[in-house]
Amino acid sequence: MSAPVVEGQPLAPGAVLGIIGGGQLARMIALAAADLGIASHIFAPEPENPAFDVAAAKTVAPYEDEAALARFAEAVDVVTYEFENVPAATAAFLAARKPLHPGAHALAVTQDRLSEKRFVSEQGLTVAPFRAVDSLADLEAAVAALGRPCVLKTRRFGYDGKGQVKILAGTDLADAYEAIGRQPAVLEGFVSFAREVSVVAARGTDGSFAAFDLCENEHRDHILAFTRIPAQVTAGTEASAIEAARRIGAALGYVGVFAVEMFIVGEGASESVVVNEIAPRVHNSGHWTSEGAQTSQFHQHVRAVCGFPLGSAARRGRVEMENLIGDAALRWRELLAEPGAHLHLYGKREARAGRKMGHVTRVWPEQG
Ligand code: AMP
Repeated sequence: MSAPVVEGQPLAPGAVLGIIGGGQLARMIALAAADLGIASHIFAPEPENPAFDVAAAKTVAPYEDEAALARFAEAVDVVTYEFENVPAATAAFLAARKPLHPGAHALAVTQDRLSEKRFVSEQGLTVAPFRAVDSLADLEAAVAALGRPCVLKTRRFGYDGKGQVKILAGTDLADAYEAIGRQPAVLEGFVSFAREVSVVAARGTDGSFAAFDLCENEHRDHILAFTRIPAQVTAGTEASAIEAARRIGAALGYVGVFAVEMFIVGEGASESVVVNEIAPRVHNSGHWTSEGAQTSQFHQHVRAVCGFPLGSAARRGRVEMENLIGDAALRWRELLAEPGAHLHLYGKREARAGRKMGHVTRVWPEQG
């Protein structure tokens, strides 16, 4: 039963969720919202978008268009977003009108790799050694301090390996600085990791916390290719990784689903966790939860941002998620014929190389 939404009252089914950004993450959030009787209104600048096919309403306008943002805010009850590069002014404009979850603080900290690394170390968690780089002279000093190999990353707008360059023994530093566009950057010491993992977790408006099991991620060409659960780490390592995410969520006053990408250094009894980055949104390494967990990350996100109780994050078996990148999506017929494979396609018209077109999840009963 839907009830009318009253200003200042908790939300109920029948409410309208505003989503900034119209890609596959917004699409999957909107599908989950619909399951809970919540209609979605997408705000995005592109005239065509994966999320438009499944949303009740859309606004096509630039993120800086205040008149369009004001109309959007008027039409929705709560606002969330699918990507961390929402301009700060857009977030502030919306937050002044409707609840914005996750909030502007979480966005500001995680949009900038330097502030994010400082914040994570302030929580007593380990990050790769790092230095701020604002000039070629800074870069030379930072490389001298951290040694080679190391990784130079832009402070803002990096994803899937974009905006970063590895500095090896023979790398010319002026070329490396040029390669990232001479932007404000961070130099990180190279972490010789054994595994890449992530914690996908949710925090509710009441501070409740629910983490999915630790995911192990395999990247190819800097893009996530596979996620497998359980991760091949000790129970103690998994517990420390989840505790790191809990601490980060609490310190940010976070509401919604987020992911913390981490490196595992060492094996077995000598394993340790190094935090790489925080994504203030649902995350590709959480896609397995749609069939592999009691509550999907998308349903969990809608529950959290609407102030509803969080669902169980318990896992349903051994799970694998395979991303379908570029032409891999042409395998759709074969994947549909595979018993037990769950195919998700994002409705993108054109399969460009490196473009995430869909994913498949496979769940097997766990032995034992
Ligand atoms: P990021 O954009 O920070 O998620 O980095 C993309 C990928 O680059 C990571 O998934 C790692 O495989 C690799 N990488 C990033 N930073 C480091 C580092 N400090 N040491 C080793 N590998 C790294």
